[in-house]
Amino acid sequence: MRPPRPADDENASPSRFGAGLTRHQRRRQEWRLRDEHSEELLDDCGLRLADWLANGAATVVKQGAHRAVYRLALPSGNYYLKQYRLAGPRAWLQNNLRPCRSYREAAGITRLSTVGIQTAELVAVGRETHGPFSGESFVLTRELPHTRPLDEFLRNAAEASLLEERGDQASLRRRVIEQLASLTASLHRHGLFHADFHAGNVLVQSDGDGARLFLIDLLPLRTEAMTPQRRWSMLGMLATSLSPHASRADRRRFLDAYSKSLGVHDDPRTVEAFCAAEVVRRQSRADRKWRRGNRHVAILDADGIACRGLAEIGRETLVAWRNSIARGEAASLPKTATLRRLPAGNAAREAWENGHALLRRGMPVARPLMFLEKRNGGIIVRDGAMPCATFPEWLRHASDGVCREDHVETLAAVGRLLRRLDDAGFTAPPDAIAVSTGGGVIVDRPEQVVRRTIWRPRREGSPQRMLSTISNIADRTTVETAYRGTTARPAESTTEPQSVVRRRVPFQRAAAAVLLAITTLFAGCRSIEKPTTVAALPAKHSVRASQLVLISDFKLAKDDPLVDDLIDLREQVVSTLQLPEPRQDVVVYMFSNEDAYRRYLEMVHPGLPSRRAYFVGTKKELAVYTYWGDRIQEDLRHEYTHGILHSSLAAVPLWLDEGLAEYFEVAGPRPGGMNGDYPHQLAVAVANGWRPDIDRLEQVEEFSQLRRIDYQESWAWVHYLLHASPDTRQELLAYVSDLRDSTRPQSLSDRIATVEPSYPARFLGYVATLNSSGGAVIRAASEL
Ligand SMILES: [Zn+2]
Repeated sequence: MRPPRPADDENASPSRFGAGLTRHQRRRQEWRLRDEHSEELLDDCGLRLADWLANGAATVVKQGAHRAVYRLALPSGNYYLKQYRLAGPRAWLQNNLRPCRSYREAAGITRLSTVGIQTAELVAVGRETHGPFSGESFVLTRELPHTRPLDEFLRNAAEASLLEERGDQASLRRRVIEQLASLTASLHRHGLFHADFHAGNVLVQSDGDGARLFLIDLLPLRTEAMTPQRRWSMLGMLATSLSPHASRADRRRFLDAYSKSLGVHDDPRTVEAFCAAEVVRRQSRADRKWRRGNRHVAILDADGIACRGLAEIGRETLVAWRNSIARGEAASLPKTATLRRLPAGNAAREAWENGHALLRRGMPVARPLMFLEKRNGGIIVRDGAMPCATFPEWLRHASDGVCREDHVETLAAVGRLLRRLDDAGFTAPPDAIAVSTGGGVIVDRPEQVVRRTIWRPRREGSPQRMLSTISNIADRTTVETAYRGTTARPAESTTEPQSVVRRRVPFQRAAAAVLLAITTLFAGCRSIEKPTTVAALPAKHSVRASQLVLISDFKLAKDDPLVDDLIDLREQVVSTLQLPEPRQDVVVYMFSNEDAYRRYLEMVHPGLPSRRAYFVGTKKELAVYTYWGDRIQEDLRHEYTHGILHSSLAAVPLWLDEGLAEYFEVAGPRPGGMNGDYPHQLAVAVANGWRPDIDRLEQVEEFSQLRRIDYQESWAWVHYLLHASPDTRQELLAYVSDLRDSTRPQSLSDRIATVEPSYPARFLGYVATLNSSGGAVIRAASEL
């Protein structure tokens, strides 16, 4: 957590924010409010909350460990009450080392009004006092009538614009977006940073032709020096919350108005690229939190059953559903809910997790309420009726009784949905999409949807597979046109390899332009002595060999030993792991020196740990970034191995990805050479009490969590599995084979345990023999 600005804490004192409010002490509660409210709000003990809850004047809006929000309907008007709770010693400490949270929020409200940004009116602020210490604290604000959150407004405006008031709604929408831009600019002009700047915290009050915006929830408001990074970080938060509702035109309009209002010259392409990366980063963080379990998820695992449900449904209800479903009886589900059986494995969990991930991105999908998984199969319970047909079924029957207009509209809807999925980093097979009776299109089988994120990519990057199922050419064109939308974006082709090389040049020019813009933009806040330099991708020369494309600024011969070695490596990886032929190109960007390489990465992916090479998989490209240095061969072998794996498999668990890359980076006529002093270091670690744990490795999902010993351990597991016995080898191959289609097959540790229950001991013994064998020791290094 960042240290608070002293100015923010000074402002959070009643002497600063309390103008017009008087102090009222009631037993252990201290209040600041206008005298006319004291009778209505307080009795002898303090706030009348218990009374209001009892007589129905207060209703709970949100309830959590850290705070509760109530709506109050009192004779003098309607109010919102926020109650900041103290969950644990840490919260208590924070509440007392700094002004209490209600005081800080009150300071934020006052601060906003002084700079002319509208927010809810502050009516009362209170805190519990325990001697000199603060306990729980309260903020009471007046309800803003006829308002709704911005995200809801935009969603409804989008729906309404499909109806007759198209023109009015569209112009209202434009005005709201421009006002949002000027509100944001105004915050930045006054050095105000909102650390939770999302569309839910912006309220829209519209009366048909005009609209006013209010910013609420001001505890995370603080004073900051407004660097471009800080400004953009707020734009990124906003973009994340608006991503399901805002179009490209909306984003452009926002950026235009924002730059004009603030008087800055941010390059729109650069800011858009930055925000797009932020959206991906923030959404995948939300996905991870969801997977681990958070306050919205009730974990209901029972004997031999994995089960999770939406916490808001209530634990008791969920347990009742779980028990009756597990017994095979009809559960007393709500009328709108439906239940779907899924094969054994992880399908039910995938349907649950992907379903919620898609919902967070505003995709049309039935809301998963609960999943349940047993050894012999899984079940997903979701909200909403069953759609009438999968998209392929619908195509087959579409000719009977559907008028042509509806037919075209549905096809276009499929195209738009595919595009949105694609932009969000998901690939959906045709069966995953369904068409409902009204012609609406939804993702009906989220368990079949595959994610592709920046660091763990997936080979399919276009709707080709979907398109190939549509035999009618006119239909196909409709879907494809809608998929492409208004932006010119060539459909990616995997059949004509040369096109990849040709297309790359304009892309690089664009990238260089963006980078130049970034450099210029940040030049002001970096040290002045440093000359402004442009970091750009190598572009001058390219060599192609099988699915490998090497791009550099210096000339590399096609028969360079380095290129030959990589071609051999590809054969080794494919035959050792019995992989299908890799289908996607791996593009290696080879910088001529370390400096150019580092500058480029720092510009495009700021904050990445410093490494000699990176493999970055996106939906568009499997790319390796590295530079010509002493260890170029092993670095290239390592990263190219990642590329081959990701080009052949649906998913590669992080530990296995690194274990295999460490395994294959060792050059030699046959794979399996010792990787540097790994055997020795592992033996030392074992002597010092370290124990391998493949279960734990399998849980690691972020490369930043991989420690040096984890790379070594991963390498050793791969070596063990491939060489200890035919059985272990078979288990690894079967696992790799499952990874071709499934992103989460049965875990490898479970499989090995079945074949060889005492495998941990065997593995330790194997590690010891590796160290004494003194096999062909070849110099190599981990990425750390
Ligand atoms: Zn690696």
